[in-house]
Amino acid sequence: MPVHQEKKVAQERKHKIIQNDTKASQGQWGRAWEVDWFSLASILFLLMFAPLIVYYFIMSCDQYQCSLTDPLLDLLTGNKHLSDIWNKTPMLTYRAAAIYSLWVTFQVVLYVFLPDFCHKFLPGYVGGVQEGAVTPAGVINKYEINGLQAWIITHVLWFANASCFHLFSPTIIFDNWIPLLWCANILGYAVSTFAMIKGYFFPTNAKDCKFTGNFFYDYMMGIEFNPRIGKWFDFKLFFNGRPGIVAWTLINLSFAAKQQELYGEVTNSMILVNVLQGIYVLDFFWNEAWYLKTIDICHDHFGWYLGWGDCVWLPYLYTLQGLYLVYHPVQLCTAHAVGILMLGLLGYYIFRMTNHQKDLFRRTNGNCRIWGKKPEYIECSYVSRDGTKHHSKLMTSGFWGWARHFNYTGDLMGSLAYCLTCGFEHILPYFYIVYMSILLTHRCVRDEHRCWSKYGKDWKHYTAAVPYRLMPGIF
Ligand code: NDP
Repeated sequence: MPVHQEKKVAQERKHKIIQNDTKASQGQWGRAWEVDWFSLASILFLLMFAPLIVYYFIMSCDQYQCSLTDPLLDLLTGNKHLSDIWNKTPMLTYRAAAIYSLWVTFQVVLYVFLPDFCHKFLPGYVGGVQEGAVTPAGVINKYEINGLQAWIITHVLWFANASCFHLFSPTIIFDNWIPLLWCANILGYAVSTFAMIKGYFFPTNAKDCKFTGNFFYDYMMGIEFNPRIGKWFDFKLFFNGRPGIVAWTLINLSFAAKQQELYGEVTNSMILVNVLQGIYVLDFFWNEAWYLKTIDICHDHFGWYLGWGDCVWLPYLYTLQGLYLVYHPVQLCTAHAVGILMLGLLGYYIFRMTNHQKDLFRRTNGNCRIWGKKPEYIECSYVSRDGTKHHSKLMTSGFWGWARHFNYTGDLMGSLAYCLTCGFEHILPYFYIVYMSILLTHRCVRDEHRCWSKYGKDWKHYTAAVPYRLMPGIF
């Protein structure tokens, strides 16, 4: 096609997309435009208590051998005062501040300045410059997908240090765990506050901003859809993936190193946690391009929920099993260990295959094979705000015929497996499965509400064909 014609087609495409802004019914995207009292109450609750919850869990391990009830009992019986607990809490140190600053700077450098080369030699891996979904304002953002590369480089350096250079101890993360918590909080609050100010004064795309007029709601759920600095530094992709998720596996390795230092061995439960969570993290980076099409990137705005959540909640609460095992080294019997491994791998398989089936189905517009057969689906349509009718398909084959969110079920099975590695002496390590159940059930309801308002009666046909959400016959 001649260049001028190509330009015209591109312009027409852009024009069509921008029309789709008005087209894109606002209800189909992200958070609400108006705040109801329940959302406001939940948000105020989280803003006040989520940082305390994280502190309580980590302090319980540090001062009470991971007992969640003992600190409360001590306080209620007057055995201890809040000030006693606080005075025993390690404070922010220069060392932790230096480690954390170096860590975040290193991840920024890997993210911004190192274009992906993994896709050039890893067959099947999709990296390099990729397009995200259309935003409500009709923008298609480009992303440099180089998370796998960042993860590999970081871990190669970690192992090189542990085995050859010995510049720092592999227990460094555990040894500075609470001082680092203060650093993570400072970054989490700084980035959320910056995102809020940026949304008001210099948004990346003003048309993609949402204001409710309620300060707390906007702070928590975010104003800007895709805040960026420069062409490539995308807040959502960076903070979602790194530093939190790259750190996840390093944190677990540091906990394993601490076990080795304290007890002279690494227990099979610690190895299981490292392996199962390692698979989950690697899967995330292997599929980073796919991740651009998930709810986090396609629908959520960037506020405290993502900014603080990625800096603090994720690295501190998703790694509780490894932390617990440092204080309570559990050696599982072979049958128990194999059972947990099987549950974790089965959960991972279901999670990955379900996501893969939908991705394949949508990419090929249904022209593919699911479990060896042509997929069945329900034709659906939705009308955008400018009155244009659009068509889509909802698959009823494969795992998507078993339940409407079987990918979440797989995720939950994997989450349960991590917790079971810790035995049954304390409830603290089971926080993760409780939290994931709440998160994914809420997400399921949120997503279904959105789909129902998008597809109307077609969604009803789909829910009649696939009546269960997470578990066939149960829910
Ligand atoms: P999904 O990948 O399930 O995507 C939901 C969307 O898929 C719907 O909005 C709809 O979008 C489309 N869809 C729904 N049903 C069908 C169907 N039958 N056929 C085709 N398309 C359909 O949701 P998420 O983005 O929430 O989850 C992605 C993964 O990330 C999950 O596996 C989840 O477990 C995991 N996750 C993990 C978290 C963690 O903290 N560990 C947190 C959140 C998610 P459309 O409008 O296009 O029709």
